[in-house]
Amino acid sequence: MSAELLKKHKIRVTPFRIKVLSVFKKTHSALSLSDLESGIGEFDRVTLYRTIKTFLDKGIIHEILMPGDIKKMALCQDGCNTHLHDHKHLHFHCDSCQETFCIDLPAYPEIVLDGFDIKQIEIQAQGVCKNCG
Ligand SMILES: [Zn+2]
Ligand SMILES: [Zn+2]
Ligand SMILES: [Zn+2]
Repeated sequence: MSAELLKKHKIRVTPFRIKVLSVFKKTHSALSLSDLESGIGEFDRVTLYRTIKTFLDKGIIHEILMPGDIKKMALCQDGCNTHLHDHKHLHFHCDSCQETFCIDLPAYPEIVLDGFDIKQIEIQAQGVCKNCG
């Protein structure tokens, strides 16, 4: 439930926040800002931007940046919180429908670089999704 998800992340439950979450939950692909805006309908832009920022900060959603200036947002998995975005999935962008998907990997590669402290690894793929293929 959306209200429980907010409470779990210590975010105050408001009708607007529930509404924004429901737009994310309705879709299987990631959302651009304009997807989100048209999904919400009536809204105050400042409130929406603040809500997005809160959700990003608290580990409710994450930002996806793909080559070609594509910027999307998607729901996080259970492991994310204020301090950590713990994703074990890749981001797939479909060149045909222009949708971006978070796809779980059965085995996420473990990468160690000598002397470098890796905080986050991003795996991206582009091609044709199963809906278009
Ligand atoms: Zn996350
Ligand atoms: Zn597609
Ligand atoms: Zn993702």
